[in-house]
Amino acid sequence: MIPYGRQDITQADIDAVVGVLQSDFLTQGPMVPLFEQRVANHVGAAHALAVNSATSALHIACLALGVGPGDRVWTTPISFVASANCALYCGAEIDFVDIDPRTYNLCPQQLESKLAQAERAGSLPKVVIPVHLCGQPCDMQAIHKLAQRYGFKVIEDASHAIGGKYQGEFIGSGKYSDITVFSFHPVKIITTAEGGMALTNDAELAGKMALLRSHGITRDPQQMTHEADGPWYYQQIDLGFNYRMTELQAALGVSQMERLDRYIARRHQLAERYNDLLSTLPLVLPWQHPDSYSGLHLYVIRLQLEKIGKSHREVFEALREAGIGVNLHYIPIYTQPHYARMGFVPSDFPHSQQYYREAISIPMFQTMTETQQDEVVATLAKVLQS
Ligand SMILES: *Cc1c(COP(=O)(O)O)cnc(C)c1O
Repeated sequence: MIPYGRQDITQADIDAVVGVLQSDFLTQGPMVPLFEQRVANHVGAAHALAVNSATSALHIACLALGVGPGDRVWTTPISFVASANCALYCGAEIDFVDIDPRTYNLCPQQLESKLAQAERAGSLPKVVIPVHLCGQPCDMQAIHKLAQRYGFKVIEDASHAIGGKYQGEFIGSGKYSDITVFSFHPVKIITTAEGGMALTNDAELAGKMALLRSHGITRDPQQMTHEADGPWYYQQIDLGFNYRMTELQAALGVSQMERLDRYIARRHQLAERYNDLLSTLPLVLPWQHPDSYSGLHLYVIRLQLEKIGKSHREVFEALREAGIGVNLHYIPIYTQPHYARMGFVPSDFPHSQQYYREAISIPMFQTMTETQQDEVVATLAKVLQS
């Protein structure tokens, strides 16, 4: 089976992790700050907080922005459930903004009209979470403008997008958002096995997230309510979690970061090849915004079903049977039973519904060979034309 995504682990990665195993610190040592610094420097952010998953990063990002009961958070329905779950963890209400049919990202025009309605109803969101689906950046400038006008905060869920650029600047630089989140799950662009990171240019938000990832405990005398009782002393000044990343994970991350730019370049080569080789098939190929450089975590094709004598499901199953590890990113979140119970109506999100009927993620990973890619293309051609 050619998978839709796969990690790349080199001898240098293995040596880095073994080095940590033989060192004094398996957790809370020097590697986590080093990894944070490497990522922050690469993308141009002032602060970076490594955590044990992007899900945890989204949770502490929401909390740091003050999301709580009675607040509203909006995101896109075409994402992994974690993009929405973070709001529910904080006791807030979630709502969705339909996607742009061309980029598959949260649509800024839909956002604007929904905000205008919400303003009249007194139900504006506290936070909006755009997701850079497949690595393609959202229209952050437009979202930022709306954030200023309507007074909400922005968390970029950039789980797919490390190494990508928007208007010439790396995603994570935070020019148009408050916090950006990366995921290092093995199918993502670089991996730490499990892991995530929250980046921000705001020292206060960084401080809050640092507390929240480690029980709400501080050892900083400046933050304590009174002078330390002694050298052993620490204070818990907030209710936090154990969301820490281990030293092994961070060492793997530091080692993977060395290859980030090469990974993205390779993904672009593969995408360009797909664009050529698939151009005559009854498919809609990914549209790329000319002013952005996608991280290309995923390559999503859409079936032109009116030109194909098979259903979406039949095409998907035939590809899997032929050894092509296709996937579907994503099932609209509002259709998940946990969310459907909240009363969402699928017809409110026509573009997401249409996307879900047609989309298939085909294999895209940095170590994919041209032979493997040719096999994907040939199989797809055969399945669509038979
Ligand atoms: C993978 C992913 C997450 C969650 O990442 P974890 O590191 O697995 O917690 C969140 N949002 C999006 C869009 C993702 O793809």
